[in-house]
Amino acid sequence: MGFEFTVSTTDRLDIVDVTDRVADAVPAGATDGALTVFVEHTTAGVVINESEQRLLDDVRTFLDGLVPDEGWEHDRIDDNADSHLRALLLGPSTTVPVVDGRLALGRWQSVLVVDCDGPRERTVRVGYTNTSTER
Ligand code: ZN
Repeated sequence: MGFEFTVSTTDRLDIVDVTDRVADAVPAGATDGALTVFVEHTTAGVVINESEQRLLDDVRTFLDGLVPDEGWEHDRIDDNADSHLRALLLGPSTTVPVVDGRLALGRWQSVLVVDCDGPRERTVRVGYTNTSTER
């Protein structure tokens, strides 16, 4: 997991398309494999979906509405239990197949970092696993 980059978010619930930066993690000369994209945080997640602005607004509205802002035990510590719970639903990692050295994403798929407790700097790690075999 040698490749990492940071993402700056601007809102409490913010979504950043990192597809191009993830693509940069494919090693030169790579053929077939997989990238694991991982966020090093307990209040952010990474998902694959469509990077369309109205949909991203809907995702924010959806996540906001799923989890009440208040009434959680963890709020006595640092007042962000709702952010942890939203991130828990998203998960901290995703996998992207690599075919012929390129991300094998579907036509409408993008890799999205979802910050549930921004604005912050977030660290994203990307690891490549080679799965090609001699033919
Ligand atoms: Zn916390």
